[in-house]
Amino acid sequence: MPMTCHASVSLALLWLRASLTDALFMRVPIESPNQAEHDRPHRRSMYKRVADLQAGDIELHKEAYRRIGQLLDLATSMPHSKHILHFVMSHPEAPVLPPGGCMYLPSDTAWASFYEHLEHPFPALFVEMVANSYYPSCNDTSLSGLKLPSSCGAEAMRGSRGCFKVTSLGSAAGIEVFETAGHVGLPDKWSYHIEHATAPRSRVPQTGAVSKCGMSGELPQVPQAARLVIPTRYVVCRMSDDDDSVTEQHVREQNRWANEALSGLSPWARTDFDGDERPASADMQISFELSDISIVTDSQCAKHGFTKPWLLHKYNQNASQHFTFVIIANDQSGVMGQSLLPHQLSEEDSPEHMVVVSTEGFRGHAGRNRGDMRYDEGDALVHEAGHGLGLYHTFEGSCANRGANGGRGDFIEDTSDEAMPHYECALTRSCGKADPVHNFMAYSPDSCKVGFTEGQKRRAWCELEHHRAALYQRSLRK
Ligand SMILES: [Zn+2]
Repeated sequence: MPMTCHASVSLALLWLRASLTDALFMRVPIESPNQAEHDRPHRRSMYKRVADLQAGDIELHKEAYRRIGQLLDLATSMPHSKHILHFVMSHPEAPVLPPGGCMYLPSDTAWASFYEHLEHPFPALFVEMVANSYYPSCNDTSLSGLKLPSSCGAEAMRGSRGCFKVTSLGSAAGIEVFETAGHVGLPDKWSYHIEHATAPRSRVPQTGAVSKCGMSGELPQVPQAARLVIPTRYVVCRMSDDDDSVTEQHVREQNRWANEALSGLSPWARTDFDGDERPASADMQISFELSDISIVTDSQCAKHGFTKPWLLHKYNQNASQHFTFVIIANDQSGVMGQSLLPHQLSEEDSPEHMVVVSTEGFRGHAGRNRGDMRYDEGDALVHEAGHGLGLYHTFEGSCANRGANGGRGDFIEDTSDEAMPHYECALTRSCGKADPVHNFMAYSPDSCKVGFTEGQKRRAWCELEHHRAALYQRSLRK
């Protein structure tokens, strides 16, 4: 297929608390979260993984992870690290932890900073993070071979912004466990992204003056007969002309899947904690009508589109007339997807109105390329489209009375609060009520995601009507 250059695009990180108030196209350096500095060798140490174990040894391996988890329960600041360990332990690539070492795990405060810099991390990389965070002899070399030069004394680690605090939590399964105020073992891709990513234009917390859409309960109901049929284009950035890992047919299938999800028709794989009733899955009365598919050969876009979004600007001209998805074929940032919300951009024709998704989360891609099957259905694109339609994460602002937005969280009354993202499909109650793992705006695996809510529908319609008015008018059918 010939290389085509269509509209131009740009995009910024999804800064959920950000709003755009200053000049477009101004890039500002951002302060990266505290992460340990490493000597990162080209070749890594080999270590034993779950896939290398005999069946009888797998329980022993899991028991070590579980006992560390129990130790983390004693510290109020470590629930997210406990969740991440639990998520990692069953992965075939999960490192087996030999006793006698030191494990460094971030506090929830350090995680909150991480999520401000990295929208939708590709979850399989948590496996690498654990291998990078375990030091088998408690010296300067991790299980994966990273070298950590520390000159901060016994109770601190050398981070990108100076030393950060390290506190012993005791030992479990013969392993000394530490709570850290920064990340000790970020994978290379996340580290690269955090160091090089484009800045948010503004980090002003959202107020009513910025988005014209307040709490969902105060927004008008969407008229039953109305629909938004949105002209939609896809740009696939690939490395070479002979890469056909995402074809036009694959794009059509992904788009069909997204439209089913928006109609409230995603499959419900019933879990043992579900009742008889299908989880909320409103018909959003919105669909994406394919207007153009461009498959372009652009290795910079294909590798670095998330980290350097200005590379994508040229693909999103006339942005006010289309909803644009850019698919990144060879991501080097460790991101599944990112998108701004409509109100975060003051210009309707800004090329930053776009949704970017990695092929790691593209429908059918994992199955065709031995990827992570938990993200094979194509729900990563639905999630990112949700942001592009104006929706926050279900865990925005953490539990209701904490965090940003004056404690209003995701501005949606019919999604329960969630303290931190969950990567497993399990019953957890991080803010008291069951976490909304079936909602598309959570981080749960694809099989768990079922739908959007009525409140989210009202917000999406409101954000488009007021902040992408030209596209709204073009799409409206009554
Ligand atoms: Zn997201």
